[in-house]
Amino acid sequence: MSPATNPRSASKPLNDRPESVSFFNYQNGQLYLEQVQLNDVVARFGTPCYVYSKACIEANFAQYRTALAHRNHKILYAVKANSNLAILQLLAKAGAGFDIVSGGELARVLMAGGNAADTAFAGVGKTRAEIEYALAQGIGCFNVESTNELKLLSQVATAMGRTAPIAIRINPDVDPKTHPYIATGLRENKFGIPIDDGLEVYRLARSLPGLEITGVCCHIGSQLTDLTPYLDAVSRVISLVDSLAADGIHLHHLDVGGGVGIGYVEDAPKLSVGEFCAAMDKLVDRRLALHMEPGRSIVGAAGTLLTEVVYLKQAPERRFAVVDAAMNDLMRPALYQAWHRIVPLTQRNDDGVDYDIVGPVCESADVLGRSRRLAIAEGDCLAILDAGAYGFVMASNYNTRPRPPEVLVDGGRANLVRQREQFDDLVRGEQLLG
Ligand SMILES: *Cc1c(COP(=O)(O)O)cnc(C)c1O
Repeated sequence: MSPATNPRSASKPLNDRPESVSFFNYQNGQLYLEQVQLNDVVARFGTPCYVYSKACIEANFAQYRTALAHRNHKILYAVKANSNLAILQLLAKAGAGFDIVSGGELARVLMAGGNAADTAFAGVGKTRAEIEYALAQGIGCFNVESTNELKLLSQVATAMGRTAPIAIRINPDVDPKTHPYIATGLRENKFGIPIDDGLEVYRLARSLPGLEITGVCCHIGSQLTDLTPYLDAVSRVISLVDSLAADGIHLHHLDVGGGVGIGYVEDAPKLSVGEFCAAMDKLVDRRLALHMEPGRSIVGAAGTLLTEVVYLKQAPERRFAVVDAAMNDLMRPALYQAWHRIVPLTQRNDDGVDYDIVGPVCESADVLGRSRRLAIAEGDCLAILDAGAYGFVMASNYNTRPRPPEVLVDGGRANLVRQREQFDDLVRGEQLLG
């Protein structure tokens, strides 16, 4: 049993971990994010509701910045982890570039004040329309995932009278030892080009018009807590860089991807951002710019999903706390069997009992946490922690549930950065017939 599941022991900061400075803490039994009492956020914006800490996101970004300040580098925030415009805006202001996987994400980056030139476009299925849009906006790099994509890029760029900057995404065939759904660097995964074909594909790129070879990239998976797979993968990519140089192909950057995990489970093995950056810095020749694409480690621990206990229900085998957030709001537990700490907004002087925290969606997978010791009553609110990454962005309207609002805390202020959806938003675009 993790100590944080017992509210009375949670008087220490809740995110007291090396990779994320703490911004959640209890004061007089009330949970705060920065200087905002989360019960006040509930009173203003209702539940379920996502809340993020600006200072925490900035501090997490600064860890990368500081660790790499002495060398040529770029930190490309992975937009898919949390693409709220206000978050992209604060990261752009902090000096981040962006890693995107769709034309829509590029439009968000530009709307938020980010630069296309500091943006890398990844993904196995870039369409012609997306390529045209990205080229027209002056995208910094296409992270190319197949030879057919390379040929299409060449064709489109030539037709537009432009040059497409490219890096080939190498699949280094290493096992990141993470959940199979978020492992991306194995030979069997759909991502990238097998490392053994690397030289040949770069030669093809050199021979095609309209392309400028700028770098190489890899991304082996997400929620990694061990350096070893990174060291293996990047070492393999470096030997490819050497063979390319011998062939007269000189690269400007090496992008090691994202994937640094966060401590969802206390006392689980972890990899700190500082440790990761130091290891990559040591491995990658300083003549190459070192690029990274962190997502989760920037925003994950900075966010929480607030929810209200609607019913306490005693079933023959278990006790349930039915809450007003569900798998459609936070899919990670149902999709990845992910474990999120769940803590009360107001601590009660009581040892509590074990509950399964479940949502109202009509699926048995709609469980947000199993066997959590909590002292709660109906009407109490809970914070599902570490929900800043792959939270709201994966939310759906399943069961005709409006998606929650998003709130960005800044010191003592709580700013609404996305409204709660209304029923009208959900049926917009639908047609009755006859
Ligand atoms: C998802 C993704 C990332 C970010 O991964 P995190 O685990 O959130 O750091 C970076 N690069 C690529 C190519 C990705 O697909």
